[in-house]
Amino acid sequence: KLYNQVQDLKGSIRVYCRVRPFLSGQSNYLSSVDHIEEGNITINTPSKYGKGHKSFSFNKVFGPSATQAEVFSDMQPLIRSVLDGYNVCIFAYGQTGSGKTFTMSGPRELTEKSQGVNYRALGDLFLLADQRKDMFRYNIAVQMLEIYNEQVRDLLVTDGSNKRYPLYLILLPMSSQTGLNVPDASLIPVSSTVDVIDLMNLGQKNRAVGATALNDRSSRSHSCLTVHVHGRDLTSGMLYRGCMHLVDLAGSERVNKSEVTGDRLKEAQHINKSLSALGDVISSLAQKNPHVPYRNSKLTQLLQDSLGGQAKTLMFVHISPEPDAAGETISTLKFAERVA
Ligand code: ADP
Ligand code: MG
Repeated sequence: KLYNQVQDLKGSIRVYCRVRPFLSGQSNYLSSVDHIEEGNITINTPSKYGKGHKSFSFNKVFGPSATQAEVFSDMQPLIRSVLDGYNVCIFAYGQTGSGKTFTMSGPRELTEKSQGVNYRALGDLFLLADQRKDMFRYNIAVQMLEIYNEQVRDLLVTDGSNKRYPLYLILLPMSSQTGLNVPDASLIPVSSTVDVIDLMNLGQKNRAVGATALNDRSSRSHSCLTVHVHGRDLTSGMLYRGCMHLVDLAGSERVNKSEVTGDRLKEAQHINKSLSALGDVISSLAQKNPHVPYRNSKLTQLLQDSLGGQAKTLMFVHISPEPDAAGETISTLKFAERVA
């Protein structure tokens, strides 16, 4: 068959790493990355860890010169499998400023060349659906949610009030009939890249509400673009359903408990809890542990039926090259190593 070419990825967990380049004005820095070779990355460790090197191995490591197109093309088979009825989860993990949003969406000033995975993935699904139109009929729709302080909100509200609806997660076996874990969140059909750009802009606008210059909330919430696919084999009449979650996680940096109080501390605790719950779920899946602790955070509850089983997971960790960030870089790489 010409579909299902990616069976080999089924149920597997892959871990990728991307190192962003130095930003303009930083060209005189020495990188904390010593070298990258195939799937290996070696970090120059700062003195408090003992001077030297530490190496980590992943399925793939992208260096600072990797382009958005190169990164996407590596993920393309995984993304395409959603049209064959697979569930896919892609997570961007890393400290604030490490390039998660760049990978998933792109830079603030977006050009066609700098578009991230979200735009490219949908564009590619439209293309593939069109190539298969004599054999299959596909309907594609998206939801966009934010999880902030363990509350799930709909980012695709259009009533202009900018009100965000706290949503109840419905996670009964029922959800497998509709494939929707959050049935009351907006579900918007899309059929062209123009539709996608409009929706991404709406989601970004809704997400910015409540953030100020000093209080960039987007780095402290998880955002999840979910692509729902319904397919029908025109010959056999067989129905397929697949769904893909593209998740830009909250910044993984550890905050100093003695320095933050009140709301900031509460946010930090929620982030900590949900990222470690995610790590626990993925590492128990990787170890084929029979008990998978999905219930420990909203994030893992929300994604439960797309993690494990037949689902395909990609944990994509991001690191900054600055020596000052080396402590966070090492803790990010250790997180990634734990789930691999
Ligand atoms: P995060 O979402 O992890 O907080 P961002 O994606 O916002 O980080 O990246 C921080 C800054 O670095 C942004 O200005 C972004 O455009 C830039 N940046 C990140 N990754 C790259 C990259 N691979 N190439 C060029 N610029 C990048
Ligand atoms: Mg970001």
